Amino acid sequence: MPPENMPAIGYSGRPGEVRERLDGATLVVSNPSNIRWLTGFGGSLGWVVIGPDVFTLVTDGRYRDRAEGEFAEHGIDADVVAPRTRAEVRDAVVLATMGASAVRAEADHLTHSAWSDLAGDLPLEPDGATIATLRRIKDAGEVARMTWAAEIADAALAEIAPRLGDGLTEADVRDELEHRMRRLGADGPSYATIVGTGPANAARPHHETGRRRIVEGDTVIIDVGALVDGYHSDMTRSFVVGAPSAEQQEWYELVRIAQSAGLAAVAPGVTTGQLDAACRDVLRQAGVADFFVHGTGHGVGLDIHEDPFAAAGGTMVLLEGDVVTVEPGLYRDGFGGFRIEDLVAVTASGGRPLTHLPKDSPCLPSPPTT
Ligand code: ZN
Ligand code: ZN
Repeated sequence: MPPENMPAIGYSGRPGEVRERLDGATLVVSNPSNIRWLTGFGGSLGWVVIGPDVFTLVTDGRYRDRAEGEFAEHGIDADVVAPRTRAEVRDAVVLATMGASAVRAEADHLTHSAWSDLAGDLPLEPDGATIATLRRIKDAGEVARMTWAAEIADAALAEIAPRLGDGLTEADVRDELEHRMRRLGADGPSYATIVGTGPANAARPHHETGRRRIVEGDTVIIDVGALVDGYHSDMTRSFVVGAPSAEQQEWYELVRIAQSAGLAAVAPGVTTGQLDAACRDVLRQAGVADFFVHGTGHGVGLDIHEDPFAAAGGTMVLLEGDVVTVEPGLYRDGFGGFRIEDLVAVTASGGRPLTHLPKDSPCLPSPPTT
């Protein structure tokens, strides 16, 4: 059940915030996550045109009722134009920009052909991430949904982890997790749940969950999140099935210490490069930094991966209101791997983790001997 008194998401103030940043220009919004952030419309097909005197959603005719219902629910005062064909949709977008002094579109999102097509009729300029920048700062309603999504993933993994030694396959574990998250109230998994096991699969950070059966001695990486009202959670825990070897114990401990250092570094004003270095330096000092083959984290919200991205040398500055992951890992083919990831809200004084599943020990019971 959803937590009681979950605060509403502050949609109604957003059109004003966007207009303020546009300086009189008109913005054509095509990224579905940006449209959802701006209007609460969750359909997969749509364009929003927003400018000094215009606020229009152009969508497929099938979505009219849904859009009008969602606008009423969220206090959004936008017109809905819902033609039937793709060509009419495109023409309606052009029409909505009529009279604009400058028209911007989301160059990071539009395909080259869509851009060229619109640019045939409009003096298009690329928009500099207006909405992506605003979206970074999560309001209380958004944080409440991500907190709940994180709690759902925590609870699902807490139920399944003790059974990892029961002869399950990677796919079994994924299916159990996704089923439980839905039962606990999620709209679905946040992304394709990663269950990477054993010397080869756990050595790949983005392993595609397969049919391999989990056996004694495996390292196991489980990367799981839940989706609530369009908002994502993201968490990884790692395990050893049976008694860990000395090397497994040592590598797990290094990842755990690196991740703690990363969590401790999260605060407004810290750069993404500094956050990355907090984790990476621990692993460098231990001589294993070459096995940490990805960035330290990323923002999470309506997209599972969004600004700010934390990697070596990153210069973006963390802001109060960001929600980011901290997720160092070590991977070696023939050994397997470990990653530990928490979702963290950046607060005035530091970071507040939204994921809480314990990570002090990787040990799981041995599989039954048959
Ligand atoms: Zn993850
Ligand atoms: Zn992540």
